[in-house]
Amino acid sequence: MTTATTVTAVPRTQDRMTHDLLLPKETVALRARARDSVARHLAPVAREIGTREESADTFPWEAFRGLASDGLFAVPFGPEYGGGYEYPMLAACTVTEEIAYESSSIAGVYDGQCILVPATLRHARPELRERLIPELVSGATAFSFATTEPDTSSDLTAARLSTWAEETPDGYVVNGRKRWITNSVVAGWVSILVRAGREGNRAHMLLIDLRSPGVRIGTPDLKMGHRGQITADIELVDVHVPRAHVLGEPGRGMAVALSSLVRGRIGIGAAGVGVAQAALDLAVHRLQTREVFGRPLGAMQHWQFVMAQRATEIECARSLYQKAAMLLDAGDDTAEPEAAMAKAYGTRLANDLVREAIQIHGALGFARQVGETGESVRLEEMYRDAKILEIFEGANELQHWIVARRLLGRDLTG
Ligand SMILES: Cc1cc2nc3c(=O)[nH]c(=O)nc-3n(C[C@H](O)[C@H](O)[C@H](O)COP(=O)(O)OP(=O)(O)OC[C@H]3O[C@@H](n4cnc5c(N)ncnc54)[C@H](O)[C@@H]3O)c2cc1C
Repeated sequence: MTTATTVTAVPRTQDRMTHDLLLPKETVALRARARDSVARHLAPVAREIGTREESADTFPWEAFRGLASDGLFAVPFGPEYGGGYEYPMLAACTVTEEIAYESSSIAGVYDGQCILVPATLRHARPELRERLIPELVSGATAFSFATTEPDTSSDLTAARLSTWAEETPDGYVVNGRKRWITNSVVAGWVSILVRAGREGNRAHMLLIDLRSPGVRIGTPDLKMGHRGQITADIELVDVHVPRAHVLGEPGRGMAVALSSLVRGRIGIGAAGVGVAQAALDLAVHRLQTREVFGRPLGAMQHWQFVMAQRATEIECARSLYQKAAMLLDAGDDTAEPEAAMAKAYGTRLANDLVREAIQIHGALGFARQVGETGESVRLEEMYRDAKILEIFEGANELQHWIVARRLLGRDLTG
């Protein structure tokens, strides 16, 4: 028996199936850089990240800072911070897809650090931006984004928030609890949505230093998958926040949160595409190399049709997230209905394809590792990881609701 894990690297079908006809040259070049960076900094540790139990000590700093060192965290920002892309949202989503191809959970970390949080920092005062963006871009500091609470997440209205801010002469005092917060176990800062006053109907988006007195980070959650995306509660007891740390206008925090979540959900759609592409590539390789009944498995017309359909769907899902991202880059702050379509379609596809890739691999797909040989195709990890993509950053039912609202009208759908 061996403990070594062999993960077979398989050829990328994307390179022979996709024409980059409409993709800007800067995005094509960035994709190549991101792929190279992922291969050097993430791939060697990704399987360990995907299987180990969550704790503050297992935050994947090495991969996190490695990707940052290649400039991938600068992508959403201007040239003064090392970014300067004409299509920054498209760029960030393309990087997310490349990361997700190797590790869905690190794509989740990237989505938080480089899509959700930067969207909130657009509303920060210049002196805060100048201070914090270099820390974010270098990977020196991890950042969090917090809207979810134990009793509310999908139904995000100010009146349902139990984390609240009382106004003081120089700022706010915040009390409450956030749940499932990515990176919180190690993060230096959080962009956090709080109710404006205990009984208020409005919300503030605040930037809180997590080293402040009164902040306590909970025990890390133990999850089915996404082990590299470590989550925990943030508890706040009489935490003082200076007025200069309001993101956007006081009382208009919900708008900041929702516009950030639109961006985040396109990123998760892109992550779904990366996972789906990785599963398709594993499936294709197995269909070409595994023999059944005297022929390669891929000679069975059943699998030819299934894979042809899925390859078509990947093309659609990728085009959807790219179009949604380009809408945002063009100044359309809602990017609807494409953003909602991209999230629901890409993440559903990831789950469908991982399930089918396991079926194609038979017992090997179901195994974490073959006892005698150490062989692993990482599909067990991908299956555990893929499910959350359909749940977080707006459950897929909410995305369908957003599409239906536009299709049928709000009078009908609510
Ligand atoms: C790995 C991970 C990372 C996370 N990171 C963060 C983070 O960094 N910051 C943060 O704030 N939160 C984070 N979350 C929380 C996440 O965003 C929420 O779990 C998610 O929004 C769903 O909320 P909920 O779990 O409270 O489920 P609920 O809101 O209780 O919803 C449960 C289910 O109800 C169904 N549902 C909801 N609304 C509707 C509807 N209108 N119609 C039909 N069905 C509906 C959906 O199927 C949904 O899955 C994270 C969670 C995980 C697991």
